[in-house]
Amino acid sequence: AHLDRIAEVDDAVHAFLHVDAEGALAAARAADEARAAGESRSPLAGVPIAVKDIVATKGLPTTAGSRILQGWIPPYDATITTRLRAAGLPILGKTNMDEFAMGSSTEHSAYGPTHNPWDLDRIPGGSGGGSSAAVAAFEAPLAIGTDTGGSIRQPAAVTGTVGTKPTYGGVSRYGLIALASSLDQAGPCTRSVLDAALLHEIIGGHDEMDSTSIDAPVPGVVEAARRGDVSGLRIGVVDEISGEGFQSGVRARFEESLKLLEARGAEIVHVACPSFVKGLAAYYLILPSEASSNLAKFDAMRYGLRVGPQGVDSPSAEQVMAATRDAGFGEEVKRRIILGTYALSAGYYDAYYGQAQKVRTLIARDFAAAFEQADVLVTPTAPTTAFKLGEKLEDPMAMYLNDVATIPANLAGVPGMSIPNGLAEDGLPSGFQILAPATRDDRLYEVGAALE
Ligand code: GLN
Repeated sequence: AHLDRIAEVDDAVHAFLHVDAEGALAAARAADEARAAGESRSPLAGVPIAVKDIVATKGLPTTAGSRILQGWIPPYDATITTRLRAAGLPILGKTNMDEFAMGSSTEHSAYGPTHNPWDLDRIPGGSGGGSSAAVAAFEAPLAIGTDTGGSIRQPAAVTGTVGTKPTYGGVSRYGLIALASSLDQAGPCTRSVLDAALLHEIIGGHDEMDSTSIDAPVPGVVEAARRGDVSGLRIGVVDEISGEGFQSGVRARFEESLKLLEARGAEIVHVACPSFVKGLAAYYLILPSEASSNLAKFDAMRYGLRVGPQGVDSPSAEQVMAATRDAGFGEEVKRRIILGTYALSAGYYDAYYGQAQKVRTLIARDFAAAFEQADVLVTPTAPTTAFKLGEKLEDPMAMYLNDVATIPANLAGVPGMSIPNGLAEDGLPSGFQILAPATRDDRLYEVGAALE
């Protein structure tokens, strides 16, 4: 049914870069047989899933939305992929994304943008717009995203779906194409909070292949999603990123959600996180710094594309590398490589990268102080509903400003979730963000389920 739905709507939505009908059907049959034999190992066995194209899938193209990886077929599975396969989830295909996960609209994909199923002239969010759009358009019941600065939560908000960024280290990064290694986390994109919890449980947990993996079991996310009990819970509103500059309809839905939580027995408090607004500036130095280093491996030798420089008879390795990177990387990726290389250069390291790391510490302190007064923190997920395709494409700063509410969680490594909380005044979905202390991902599900 999902393959039929993809055939029907994906020309218009363009959520997928690659569909593996044969593989998905074979895996679905295997899951059916296992169930018939009483061997099903997971509540999601047989439920198909779409996977963001930044996750390595053995035998299936993996491009990270970039020209430079066109045609690359990984010889191995990411840990997430291994766990999905072991739990019997058929992989429908790979979803579209901003190149190397840099962006908030999926317009930076080398393979053309994804369209928001609510209004095809609008963006589906980014960088994981393909995963969220696939779920919103009923092309897939579940999807995997990655979130370095909001790329699971913001697409969830603008497509009316659920998205979780787990605690840093909660889900293995082994086999994810790295954007910024100290910020990257993979997580679930779904239509319900319980679906997200069930998927979180499958992909999460310790992995010795990732040195930053937390050596502890996944907190009781499924139980929390089933309970949805917020009585006595202290919910902290982060005023610095909840009001000014946010669309009126988004604010109205946010206020309504707070009232609902209060009606269900939660206590609403207001917390001060003065450093959060500086997160954006720090993030857009730290991320390019880490990305410029991570992307150095695309050297025309090891993976994907190789382009010879024009008019050179016997080019040097360096010339081939330069020509390949010039042809293979898009504008946004080049912009960030230049920014990151500059920020890391000997003369400027302390002034930019060093300062940004200090702001990162301040943000972690704000979180620590706020979690003394509240069990979870809440904000709107994104300042606006889905904007028009093309609207911010030529203005990187306007695009970056979208991430103001999602970035603090990545900088501090704490978990976050976006759940749909109704339609704004323009008839488009708005999102409610929940943030919890590190390793307390269960609280996201407790609160999310209470609002569903
Ligand atoms: N909008 C953020 C960026 O462009 C999102 C990145 C992400 O989470 N992958 O960096």
